[in-house]
Amino acid sequence: MAKKNKDEFEYQGRSAAKWKEHAQESAGNFDRFVRDGVNRFTPKEGNNRLRILPPYWKDAEDWAYNIFIHYGVGPDEQSYLCPKEMKDEECPVCEEQTRLNRAGETEDAKAMKASKRFGCWVIDRKAEDEGPQFWSMPFTIWREANISAEDEDGAIREFDHPTKGFDLLFKKEGTGLHTKYLGIKLATKKGPVSVDVEDQKQWLGYVKKNKVPDILKFYDANHIEAVFGGTKSSDDDEDLDDKPKGKKKKGKKKKGKKGKKGNGTERLAKSAKKGKKSKKKKKGNGEEIPF
Ligand SMILES: [Zn+2]
Repeated sequence: MAKKNKDEFEYQGRSAAKWKEHAQESAGNFDRFVRDGVNRFTPKEGNNRLRILPPYWKDAEDWAYNIFIHYGVGPDEQSYLCPKEMKDEECPVCEEQTRLNRAGETEDAKAMKASKRFGCWVIDRKAEDEGPQFWSMPFTIWREANISAEDEDGAIREFDHPTKGFDLLFKKEGTGLHTKYLGIKLATKKGPVSVDVEDQKQWLGYVKKNKVPDILKFYDANHIEAVFGGTKSSDDDEDLDDKPKGKKKKGKKKKGKKGKKGNGTERLAKSAKKGKKSKKKKKGNGEEIPF
């Protein structure tokens, strides 16, 4: 009798890693500029304390990796790495920016400019269980961190050093466009990434395996343009194809036939909605966009 009910509540457990991976997954119609599954850091309101992990990519000249991001692209306000700034390839957003500048619409052009950020792996001291998290750090923090690296005698404190580094402290106030970072400085005491040798090994091992340049996700110009221009798919392009190019960039090129390249292309139809709304200043896709 008892046997009969044995499997009634059968449960097939999944690993903690799987749960976490799914919590990080993008919502399908969202493009991300880092690989799915990458744990992302967002500064918390109030005091933050981080440890910046060393760069392991080849010939690193800085502890952070320069990235250029276009925020708020298309109706869904997605974020893309700028192919022009980063790979010297065609970028539809930069092209539109140039066009607007020439037309004297400098305000709109400014909103489209690729934002310079600094990609690095960090340990959030208030959430060490999360392990290494990726942060596209804003310019202000990057610069202030570098300034505070020099002590009063002119000696450099290598704060990303694995065993003799320094934590980075700052305070975050406000959100979105009103975000402010205050009191950006290094902790006074130096120390290892972790006092727990196992954690240290694991974290640094992970970061070595997932070098910043390797986790970045690029989309090609066609994909970005389709999202940016708000075109749907090739089936819906008919009424746009014959329009003169000058007017606005809507539907400039025919797209959709180029097959699946990467995992982004098939998302086009879902993410590209009617109408170009790239002028919107409000950023709403959950990316942290402090200035
Ligand atoms: Zn660009």
